[in-house]
Amino acid sequence: ATPTAVMVATGVGANNGVLIKGGDALERAQMVKYVVFDKTGTLTQGKASVTTAKVFNGMERGEFLTLVASAEASSEHPLAKAIVEYTRHFHFFDEPSTTKDAQKNNKESNYSWLLDVSDFSALPGKGVQCFIDGKQVGNRKLLTENGVSIPKFAEDIVVELEESGKTGILVAYDSTLIGVLGVADPLKREAAVVVEGLTKMGVKPVMVTGDNWRTARAVAREVGIQDVRAEVMPAGKADVIRSFQKDGSVVAMVGDGINDSPALAAADIGMAIGAGTDIAIEAAEYVLMRNNLEDVITAIDLSRKTFTRIR
Ligand code: ADP
Ligand code: MG
Repeated sequence: ATPTAVMVATGVGANNGVLIKGGDALERAQMVKYVVFDKTGTLTQGKASVTTAKVFNGMERGEFLTLVASAEASSEHPLAKAIVEYTRHFHFFDEPSTTKDAQKNNKESNYSWLLDVSDFSALPGKGVQCFIDGKQVGNRKLLTENGVSIPKFAEDIVVELEESGKTGILVAYDSTLIGVLGVADPLKREAAVVVEGLTKMGVKPVMVTGDNWRTARAVAREVGIQDVRAEVMPAGKADVIRSFQKDGSVVAMVGDGINDSPALAAADIGMAIGAGTDIAIEAAEYVLMRNNLEDVITAIDLSRKTFTRIR
């Protein structure tokens, strides 16, 4: 292709909300053999909502939700946002304000119930931890890492959530399990169609996620992806990309999160979701501004049309 053709294609991409950083990336996309999708926020809407909140050990529901939401408030993860929103609504309906001013405040955004936290850390693929009132709050893998035991009944609740494609979040406070949250994150509407379309184009779709195997399998089944890799930490996602590259295959990675940036950088073509985190966007060669997965196909088509080659 001539430099003019590349320029035109880049312009066509931009008009469709597909930002392409450079002619090399545009050229490589025609040869893509595998498209590896992150799950949360990429195949799914990333607009999660809490569907279950079970509280243990006699703690009050409001207290439980407030602790978890306060811990999650500094995280950008879709799960964290869902938990904070759910808790905001809980407080709104639990304690409706009496004065007009307070009502107005509540309706818009009232986060006054959030507790002060210290030493917050978000652990990609694991969860968050911090201290509230000098006592540690943490979730998921952090529990087992910190030696908090998980009773069978709690494990059973989580298994049930996961088998229906939801994410189960176990929460500990002061080294005790205080409850479990179930969060549902629906697939993007176009996800299954795009997976089918790629397959028809001779491109193999793969799903890689930090989420657990049960949830991952349920979501993969729903979207029509056979090749799934679950419980993968951020560095592991890059290893997955490299394993597909071993035989010289060209691999694209589509992701939205901080946890995807090593894989986006390792891929021959990194495609970041425009609504994703800045770090992912920086690591990628393509930015899908419309947050629509159909643009993965648009990008490959555009490259194929610009660089006609015998394949
Ligand atoms: P994906 O790879 O599908 O985008 P992530 O790696 O972001 O998923 O998250 C994987 C898992 O790590 C989540 O399903 C959840 O169990 C846990 N996790 C990550 N961030 C958080 C958080 N802020 N709060 C609770 N759990 C979290
Ligand atoms: Mg993600």
